[in-house]
Amino acid sequence: MDFDLTTEQKDIQKAALEFARGEFDPDDALLYDRNQQFPSKIWEMACELGFIGLHFPEQYEGQGLGLLENALTVEAFCRQDPGIGMALGLSDFGSEMVLRHGNEDQKKLILPYAAQGKGILTMAFLEEDYSLAPLATTAKADENGYVIDGKKSFVTLGSMAGYMIVACQTDPDDPHAQSFFLVEREIDGMEISSMGEKLGMRMLPMDMVSLTGVRVPKESRLGQEEKGSFQLEDFLKEMRIETAAMGVGIAQGGLDRALDYGKKREQFGRAIIRFDAIRNKLADMYMEVELARLITHKAAWSFDNKKPDNQAILMSKAVASRAAYRVTYDAVQIYGGLGYMTESHIERFYRDAKALDFFLESGQMQKDMLADDMAGNPPRR
Ligand SMILES: Cc1cc2nc3c(=O)[nH]c(=O)nc-3n(C[C@H](O)[C@H](O)[C@H](O)COP(=O)(O)OP(=O)(O)OC[C@H]3O[C@@H](n4cnc5c(N)ncnc54)[C@H](O)[C@@H]3O)c2cc1C
Repeated sequence: MDFDLTTEQKDIQKAALEFARGEFDPDDALLYDRNQQFPSKIWEMACELGFIGLHFPEQYEGQGLGLLENALTVEAFCRQDPGIGMALGLSDFGSEMVLRHGNEDQKKLILPYAAQGKGILTMAFLEEDYSLAPLATTAKADENGYVIDGKKSFVTLGSMAGYMIVACQTDPDDPHAQSFFLVEREIDGMEISSMGEKLGMRMLPMDMVSLTGVRVPKESRLGQEEKGSFQLEDFLKEMRIETAAMGVGIAQGGLDRALDYGKKREQFGRAIIRFDAIRNKLADMYMEVELARLITHKAAWSFDNKKPDNQAILMSKAVASRAAYRVTYDAVQIYGGLGYMTESHIERFYRDAKALDFFLESGQMQKDMLADDMAGNPPRR
């Protein structure tokens, strides 16, 4: 057993952190957050430097690296800034569905598009009423392809994406008969509206997508017809690990700042880090971050080594998103009243961390799935 990162992995981690420290200006980040603005310039730079899609094969403009290297990069970005980190990490949301289930033409179209920063991708699976199966959004086959009708909610980056991967029911009588379609943003019958303001993750718009009689060619279907629920399970494995990496990064960023503040801030004639209540909190925070990182790296390693450990993957997302909101909650506490103020920057970590608990599925749902896996029950969807 070897817990050490390779020299190449350490170099990637260092490069990502250096880029983030050099380019993620905290005052700019505050403005992006306040104005609900995507950090486009930084995303373009990240694409130019090859940080986006580094787990894609080289023939699709990736770096031919693994999910662990991708996780290290996303972790470093979120450690420096949670909002910018999540914006960069999710700018290619859905690319793994194309990578694993797309045909050659789809891979050649979409993967370089995301990696080179030609545009943004997203996934739309949750229905208007927030249900997942059976899907109310349908794709009906005709002689020219498919006609899609339905409404999707909670589509991250929906209004910015050039391509959207849409989950549809292809057989209304079989709840598992779902298929995914690659839909261009500029297509007749698609309308996008904002879902409004949110607590955190404010640099990424959150949209409703309405599809009325949207005609797509049959070549736009990703993978085999009616195998969508299996594809989704596959896709979620990778996304849970990537989301866990964001959680580890946000938690580490909160801890870094709280530790630093604890050493500097003096009350009653001594640095607050010398009070037991603060020291214990910092030690607990450190343990949470380290445990979240260990399970996340284990999950990514299992995936890259072609023996995905489903329980480790489920735990990584649940443990890391929990670490993110618990550690950043304590970080705000250590800053005292100042931590409640926007200008301290730490409150943004706390607000952004909570989004990860819901992203993909909630931590409670993950525990439910973990219990099913432990009991040997088949996945429910
Ligand atoms: C910031 C953010 C970004 C998102 N981005 C996207 C996106 O890009 N695309 C997309 O399609 N969706 C997206 N979503 C939606 C997200 O996938 C759902 O919010 C998530 O799956 C939870 O579903 P729900 O909101 O319907 O909650 P519900 O399912 O209604 O859950 C309500 C409560 O019940 C609990 N609960 C539900 N089921 C179980 C269970 N089996 N066991 C135990 N407890 C349970 C939940 O934990 C929660 O506390 C996003 C959500 C957020 C907040």
